[in-house]
Amino acid sequence: MTSKYKPIELRPRKIKRIFFLIGCPVKGTLLNNIKIVKNYIGGEWAEAQCSGYLDIENPSTGEVIGKVPLSTPAEVNRAIDAAQSAFTEWGRMPVARRVGYLYALRNVLRENEEKISRTLAAEMGKSLPDARAEMKRTFENIEVACGMPVLQQGDKLIGSSYGIDGEVIRLPLGVFTLIAPFNFPAMAPFWFTPYALATGNTYVAKPSEQVPLTMELITECIDQIGLPWGVFNLVNGDKAAACAFIDNPKVKGVSFVGRSETCRIIAQKCAAANKRYQAMGSAKNHLVVMPDYSKLDQLIRNMSTSCYGCAGQRCMAASAIVPVGDDMYKTVCEKFISESKKIIVANPLDPKVAAESMVMGPVISAKAKKFILGMIETGLNEGATLALDGRDIKIPGCEKGHFIGPTIFTDVKPGMEIHKTEIFGPVVVILKASSLDEAIEIINEHQYANAASIYTQNGYYARKFKLEVQCGMIGVNIGIPAPVAYLPFGGMKNSMMCDIKMQSKAAIDFFTEDKIITERYWQED
Ligand code: NAD
Repeated sequence: MTSKYKPIELRPRKIKRIFFLIGCPVKGTLLNNIKIVKNYIGGEWAEAQCSGYLDIENPSTGEVIGKVPLSTPAEVNRAIDAAQSAFTEWGRMPVARRVGYLYALRNVLRENEEKISRTLAAEMGKSLPDARAEMKRTFENIEVACGMPVLQQGDKLIGSSYGIDGEVIRLPLGVFTLIAPFNFPAMAPFWFTPYALATGNTYVAKPSEQVPLTMELITECIDQIGLPWGVFNLVNGDKAAACAFIDNPKVKGVSFVGRSETCRIIAQKCAAANKRYQAMGSAKNHLVVMPDYSKLDQLIRNMSTSCYGCAGQRCMAASAIVPVGDDMYKTVCEKFISESKKIIVANPLDPKVAAESMVMGPVISAKAKKFILGMIETGLNEGATLALDGRDIKIPGCEKGHFIGPTIFTDVKPGMEIHKTEIFGPVVVILKASSLDEAIEIINEHQYANAASIYTQNGYYARKFKLEVQCGMIGVNIGIPAPVAYLPFGGMKNSMMCDIKMQSKAAIDFFTEDKIITERYWQED
């Protein structure tokens, strides 16, 4: 028997022709040897209609490695129109065939994994192991979305009343859009994109203007899998482009990840425009250490990765440590300060550190560095003890990079600005609690509630922590844990200003409309 459907055809491997400029893969137009990022609209790469360009900087060296266009609302609307035109056919395509494109995408991305990881490290500054780990989670989300033929199934109730059946079907809605943050240039878009496409929606993504090269490279991979015209579109720009998503009535939903300040703006605007939205914001994640915990070496290594991975610029970075009791406080302070001094701070693409597992790169920009240095000054003024000072670190050959070394404040009290604020850099605050109840209170009084972890071998403490801590994600004997793609991801309070979490089964609720059908047929006379 022959299949009704033609097999998915991969487009010619254009990605093979990508060449290297200043150590980073690039495509498209060059102006005075500087790469200009393009938009991908309706299956075509094109120079953006834009109001200007921003420099894309390698934060390790300060070099300009490209320019990103600030797309105008008219340009964004063109992408939305393309996605809208593609919707009817894509939404009607059998789900198994839609996910066929995702299987193909996963394979093309895997072939280009190292190239993408290096671009990510170059433009964002995270270490290569961190960039590769980000790619793994990106694949994982695609793989979960490939389960859509099962995940998108509805329900049927035979006999919801006499002679009447009830049914729930889950349908795509139309055009969805993404406004992404800088810190996960590959993974953050894949918390949403594969689920939106697999459920039958079409998509327009806007990467952070600070890190557009990774998504451009990934979109080159998307271009190879032969998706129908307009199903996936990429526009570059800043808040003007982001707001154009919300202003366009054709857009059914917006997924946002970024600072809580921006999150609130997006949530309010989407609610006013009667759009669906996901709005994930900032964090201050606490690690509580109970006095019974005895695996101290393992604990300190675990904490160090959790605090300094990605130079503390993760929504799942640990940034506050709460040892319980005087003895544990003293031990953790001593050991953690000593371990933090061993962190290798370097340009992640420096071949000399390629084999090191724990390398910490720069923070994203001069502006971010200035803010973090300001927060360290605030901590000193508030009376906290600066037990490790990373302000004056110099990386030979990277004098224009935005480096800050591991920095630790002890004697921190709840309510100090350095505790209240998301510093989003390698700055850790240590607060002492006299009991588990006090540690839980410190966490629960915080404005942010993304995640928290406890280290204990005592089942009672662990259970109490899981049940009483008001955070969206909880760890037990593990650094702040970013859930795998098979589980939902999202915080509470000011860390998440919406109802539906990201990835896994939760995503299906966001990207589909439940239609409830009640039906009765009379017997023919
Ligand atoms: P940001 O809020 O500055 O920018 C995020 C995106 O919003 C960008 O694409 C930007 O162009 C756009 N934007 C900025 N201002 C806007 C406005 N007024 N209107 C519309 N769009 C606007 O965030 P960032 O600095 O790129 O990202 C870091 C933040 O993201 C941190 O606070 C971090 O905790 C958070 N984050 C949260 C999660 C989570 O799961 N909760 C995950 C990753 C990052």
